[in-house]
Amino acid sequence: MSQWGRGRRRWLSFPLLVLFASAAIHAQSSGKKAVSTNDEDFAKSVKEWTTRPDFISPLVDHLPKVAGIPSPKDVLGHHIGEPKKLTYYADILKYYRALAAATPRVKVVTIGRSNEDRDLVVVFVGSDDSIKNLEQYRTYLGQLADPRTITPQQATQIIAKAKPLYHLSGGLHSAEVGPSEMLMELAYRLVTEDSPIINAIRDNVIVSITPAADPDGRDRNVDWYYKYGINETEGRTTGASVPYWGKYVFHDDNRDINYSQVEMRSLLDWYFEWHPPIMHDLHQAQTLLYTFSGQAPQNPNLDPILYAELPMMANFEMAQFAKYGMPGVWTHGFVDMWSPGYLAFMSSNHNGMIRMYEIQGFSGANTQKMRLGNPNSPAAGNPAGAGQGGRGAGAGTADAAANAAGRGNQSVREWYRPWPATGEFEWSLRNNTNYGETGVITALQYTSQFPKIILENFYVKSRNSMNAWQQDGITAYVIPAGQRDMTRVERLVNLLRLQGIEIARTAADAEFDDGKYPAGSFVVKRNQPYSRLVKTLLEKQVYPDANLRTYDDAAWTMGLMSQVDVKETRDKHVFDSGYVKLNPIVEREIHLPGALTGSGSLTAVAHYGSNNMITLRYRLRDMKIQAAEKEFKHGETTLPAGSFVITGDAARVKGEVERLGLTAVALSSAPDVPLHDLDLPRLAVFSTWGNTQEVGWVRYAFDKFGVPFDLIYKERVKKGDLKSAYDVILMPMQGGSGKRIVFDVENRGQPIEYKKSDRFTFLGMYGESDDITGGMGLEGVAEFEKFVKAGGVLVTLGTASYFPAEFGLAPRVDAARTSPQFYAPGPIVEAEILKPEHPIFYGYDKKTIPVRYASGPLLTVQTNTNPFEPPPGPPPTPNSVLMRYPGGDEHVLSGLMRGAAEIRNRAAIVDEPSGKGRVILFAGNPCYRWQNFGEFNMLFNTVLNYNDIKTVPDKPANTTAGQP
Ligand SMILES: [Zn+2]
Repeated sequence: MSQWGRGRRRWLSFPLLVLFASAAIHAQSSGKKAVSTNDEDFAKSVKEWTTRPDFISPLVDHLPKVAGIPSPKDVLGHHIGEPKKLTYYADILKYYRALAAATPRVKVVTIGRSNEDRDLVVVFVGSDDSIKNLEQYRTYLGQLADPRTITPQQATQIIAKAKPLYHLSGGLHSAEVGPSEMLMELAYRLVTEDSPIINAIRDNVIVSITPAADPDGRDRNVDWYYKYGINETEGRTTGASVPYWGKYVFHDDNRDINYSQVEMRSLLDWYFEWHPPIMHDLHQAQTLLYTFSGQAPQNPNLDPILYAELPMMANFEMAQFAKYGMPGVWTHGFVDMWSPGYLAFMSSNHNGMIRMYEIQGFSGANTQKMRLGNPNSPAAGNPAGAGQGGRGAGAGTADAAANAAGRGNQSVREWYRPWPATGEFEWSLRNNTNYGETGVITALQYTSQFPKIILENFYVKSRNSMNAWQQDGITAYVIPAGQRDMTRVERLVNLLRLQGIEIARTAADAEFDDGKYPAGSFVVKRNQPYSRLVKTLLEKQVYPDANLRTYDDAAWTMGLMSQVDVKETRDKHVFDSGYVKLNPIVEREIHLPGALTGSGSLTAVAHYGSNNMITLRYRLRDMKIQAAEKEFKHGETTLPAGSFVITGDAARVKGEVERLGLTAVALSSAPDVPLHDLDLPRLAVFSTWGNTQEVGWVRYAFDKFGVPFDLIYKERVKKGDLKSAYDVILMPMQGGSGKRIVFDVENRGQPIEYKKSDRFTFLGMYGESDDITGGMGLEGVAEFEKFVKAGGVLVTLGTASYFPAEFGLAPRVDAARTSPQFYAPGPIVEAEILKPEHPIFYGYDKKTIPVRYASGPLLTVQTNTNPFEPPPGPPPTPNSVLMRYPGGDEHVLSGLMRGAAEIRNRAAIVDEPSGKGRVILFAGNPCYRWQNFGEFNMLFNTVLNYNDIKTVPDKPANTTAGQP
């Protein structure tokens, strides 16, 4: 395997090694001296596992051996990077804890529990002084993070004493296995090595480590590797990846802008205690190492200092790698600086610095062949899946799934890739370790040489943020009190608070330049340390250049996503406590209690569009609850269509109404409007085995709002008789076409089981299967058809709506695709409600609402029975089209939609009766990543009113509608 002997020697291969070997005495704390030697076994193994001599640096080709301090091999039984060896999370923790027990240079802190109850930890590594005085260094960083707490002179003094905290995260994406292994070796090296580079890092920088940001997924992926991956050879792969990483999401833990997942939230909470000026996520996908430098499109709200810092560090790393003779390191041309939802953005959003690597690797620990192009043939392919990447392109591991392939070729020289990797070679886990660890040590080396500059920049960025409003003139965002549904206001306020944003409430009615605000309105002033983030989250995203692609979403405007009124003001009076009295919110979370007024035998709960309505229904599941089909009035209160009328136990109802922030009035008799019973459906959520992430977001929302459901797969569908078990089957967004949903994971000749066993205890969670390949097939389609015909309600979201259109479950509905020129990375656009009386729209009081565009199908409903004799005039819209996109640039509210005319008048929601049942197709995704809270209610209304939905059939007419 090793080609070591044939490789060229590089000039730097020996000096560090010699220097290290000569430093035989390794000083430990409290005067105790430990004898240090080189670990010959390590050097020999690593040399053997490294597949080419230029795939290693002198920083990592050796490891000290120090009596009393366990190396990874001492605890795990093998050196890091051994082929076919991956470490389970419990063993990773075991290692760090053993290391912490053996040296005063390491401390392990528990920061929370994962969804599956694993310990979430941060490991601190530094000099004896750093770890002993960690609390003091933490305090310094907190002071620099909030410039209001210190004078500039004090800042100078603090910077002189403080040390930068550099945070490293591995294992955010569970198939990107290498960094979680590498970080253990890094920690050991930082503790034990005595060399100028490491000594400077240890003395001048405090390193903190998230060993595996998604520990549940780590274990599941390691199980999967040992069950399947380890036996795979070239040309003989299962082609299937483990159906789940974390409980709910895969790579979207790096898109969790609202920190919904407990693992991400725990790290955010930790952030506010420690304020690391740099957070660096270690991913795995690009050839051979990509280092993020913050390319365009860039978020213009962030400090120009940051945009200079990012390429500075990336370029230093590229130069060092080149000096070590390691090819294939590049920057630029992959991930941009537009969306602020990547995990490490928690740092740059709070005046620190996000950093990212993508290191070449595979989802397991096998050594695999890579075939890259040569610089003169940009079209060269690579069966291993690597090497084909420009911006938005992926390779090798799961990041590839999120990327479109083929843009750019990583074997081609570019200004940002001066020395690409080319040709054929084997790639091993140890190569991944070598690149990752060399990169990280180099980043830390840079930090250790400029620790004061990094701290000063952090302080100045924080201070600049306080004054950023002077450039754009926006002094505050105001969220008015008295909005119809205050539960979404509460959620928005709490999400801002979660991010450390300061918010105050007006003590009395207030008037600013742009209007009057009632007492209790929320004022988010811009003269605060996180004012840049305030603007980033609340403004409408104005995309800088329609020709630029972005790696993720183009828009996230929280007010639009929540359908909450958020005003921008330029009035400087907001800073004047003599003009307006503001009461700062001191709690991390607020609660705006609901109210029930009056007394009576019935309670009417107003449906103002709160997502908590469904929670109320389920919490009171044993009570008789009806929905009013028309608006009615009671005293001063207007109760819109969809409001609940609840019989009995007013005290119990009152308690829930208050807890859930709803508005209710007591009635002495039923209102004089038609009512229907809100029966609770037997609800199933269907998931393929190959696309569980968007399903996961829906599961998460249902879990949070207390909506019980069965998660079903093809196994249940093929059993048949769905109608006897379920009333509603929801098919969340998954797959890119109907065909993908029906045939799902390809079968390559052997069954792929997802089941728990004594050996593989982390498989078979959230469902199990004897064979995840093959999909439901046509027999599954037939079962879905029987279900609908027998009276079931099938609800499809986003791309899942191709399924009923393409497989004839909604025969009149056609699903088309946009042109290749169309580009819409999640903009927020207007949608027009055509049937406001339909139960799906209970709680909405506007005819046009903002929705996130999900790039689902372009839906058309055919009603033309005679194409040869079209009636005169414009075709009427079929009754089953409930909502449509007006389309066109003028209806794009935030972010980018290139080719917006292509969606003009396309159906956004279709309700097609079929047999005794119906199919409800959403072109968009009303339950997206815990973000578009304003749309959730349409999905929840569908569930609650499933057997009271009536769409008047179209008059027999020669029409085609929903056409552009
Ligand atoms: Zn990744």
